[in-house]
Amino acid sequence: MATGRVDLDGNPIKAMTICMIGAGGFIGSHLCEKLMNETPHKVLAVDVYSDKIKHLLEPSSTPPWVDRIQFHRLNIKNDSRLEGLIRMSDLTINLAAICTPADYNTRPLDTIYSNFMMLSLWLNTVRKIASASYISPLVKFTGKRLVAFYLKIAHYGSHMLVDNFSESSIVLQQDPEYFVLKEDASPCIFGPIEKQRWSYACAKQLIERLIYAEGAENGLEFTIVRPFNWIGPRMDFIPGIDGPSEGVPRVLACFSNNLLRGEPLKLVDGGESQRTFVYIKDAIEAVLLMIENPARANGHIFNVGNPNNEVTVRQLAEMMTQVYTKVSGEAPPETPTIDISSKEFYGEGYDDSDKRIPDMTIINRQLGWDPKTSLWDLLESTLTYQHRTYAEAIKKATSKPVAS
Ligand code: NAD
Ligand code: UDP
Repeated sequence: MATGRVDLDGNPIKAMTICMIGAGGFIGSHLCEKLMNETPHKVLAVDVYSDKIKHLLEPSSTPPWVDRIQFHRLNIKNDSRLEGLIRMSDLTINLAAICTPADYNTRPLDTIYSNFMMLSLWLNTVRKIASASYISPLVKFTGKRLVAFYLKIAHYGSHMLVDNFSESSIVLQQDPEYFVLKEDASPCIFGPIEKQRWSYACAKQLIERLIYAEGAENGLEFTIVRPFNWIGPRMDFIPGIDGPSEGVPRVLACFSNNLLRGEPLKLVDGGESQRTFVYIKDAIEAVLLMIENPARANGHIFNVGNPNNEVTVRQLAEMMTQVYTKVSGEAPPETPTIDISSKEFYGEGYDDSDKRIPDMTIINRQLGWDPKTSLWDLLESTLTYQHRTYAEAIKKATSKPVAS
């Protein structure tokens, strides 16, 4: 069925059914919201949790999307119902993973399982379904597209090469040729095996290679997305409120938690590492373009990030403190930041990426996409959300009398 929408080449876009695994997570919840609000596509949303998409599944009124999203609570590790859902879809998107750095060195087996083995099982299922529908001596994938969110760019780090192995690292760090990460040119280099932090990156790289090889040898239609620090509302959890008290989420939620509690923000190893942050809503625009423009997206690996929003972690902490003071009306913590060693914060086996800048040439050429939102603006809307969502709950939790 045509949708009235046209793709970047002016062709009508057909309504499709999308099997989205990990739909209940941070990225999944924003993608579901976008698909429901702005497109006629159907979503078979698969996850073990649904809290972040509750507003779409149990809306207070009857929105236009009411029949277009179905939630399937299942663990893709061991649930054969997944195959039936993939069979019913035109496109399968996989977002399921363990993707909080605090887990990479402390739960390396789960990290490798969830980022490689679980996804290779999914790939096998797609292969089984698609090849069964193709009657030919050549095994080919047909009728199923796949979008995979893979590399966390930590490992595709010419920056590690520059930092750890080059004597002239300072000079090289000034030259974009050595640190801007290009999908089709930059080398992938990890730290040593003892630094288990790289278990995630290595698992991601291997699944990317597997998908790419399925494309090359068996004709799988795929798109690989490399998210560069997408941040925004609903990212991770606030420890002790909607996640475990001892849990360590990614930096946005760690710093939000500190600000909500009026505590100093903890700068790991001095907060000297640099990141480029992109607003989730900008990034989701890019994913929708990939979904609706298969002729331009198939077979490609896309960096999705915002090279203009580069800061050190220390600068991020300072900006978040300023923004939070503005949106909450509360005074900043007396001691705004404290330094902490990575060993104390993450435990043995942690390692960091020092610099991570995405090259935007390919996504710009294929899909005409550019990020729009400045770091200040995205922090303002995100911290407004954090304050509105959590401030009361934190007050209650911290004012509870201690049991005698
Ligand atoms: P997230 O943790 O918020 O979402 C992942 C979702 O997958 C969760 O809701 C989780 O419940 C679900 N899931 C995990 N294991 C499952 C299983 N066995 N069965 C069913 N559901 C399962 O993470 P996110 O930030 O939304 O990231 C999504 C993907 O993007 C991941 O592959 C991640 O590695 C990748 N990624 C994200 C970023 C970023 O900036 N947010 C950066 C790099 C890569
Ligand atoms: N970080 C920090 N304090 C925190 C949490 C994280 O200094 O409370 C640092 C972390 O060491 C890394 C950066 O912030 O240098 C980004 O960490 P995140 O967990 O968001 O993921 P990454 O970009 O490393 O994958």
